[in-house]
Amino acid sequence: MSDTDCLFCKFVSGELNADIVYETDKVIAFRDINPQAPTHVLIVPRKHIASINDLTDSDREEIGNLYLAAKEVAKEAGFSEDGYRVVMNCNAAAGQTVFHVHLHLLGGRTFSWPPG
Ligand code: AMP
Ligand code: ZN
Repeated sequence: MSDTDCLFCKFVSGELNADIVYETDKVIAFRDINPQAPTHVLIVPRKHIASINDLTDSDREEIGNLYLAAKEVAKEAGFSEDGYRVVMNCNAAAGQTVFHVHLHLLGGRTFSWPPG
């Protein structure tokens, strides 16, 4: 299932090139074009789901797969033990700009809390 107007679906299909760092049959992970940390990777399901608000019971595994991928990318990047942040924005107040759910994986520096 894909959306013809969706940037991340175009990365999934290969119509556009992303800087892919990890992939499985369910997810792809690629470098954010505007990194907010030394490592800033976006992890997306191959299935098009616009936002958290659009999740259904059948998407449990899709979302779980994003976190399992985050664990692997963090391990490969070498900051599993130091720590890292994963974030998923939903709609305007949180700053979501691409409407294909994605986990931000940020690592390689220290993060403050609460986030801005
Ligand atoms: P969000 O604001 O949570 O929807 O995150 C969207 C993210 O996609 C932002 O961090 C953007 O920098 C990133 N982004 C936008 N266009 C591209 C692109 N062409 N390649 C990689 N990342 C992108
Ligand atoms: Zn999409």
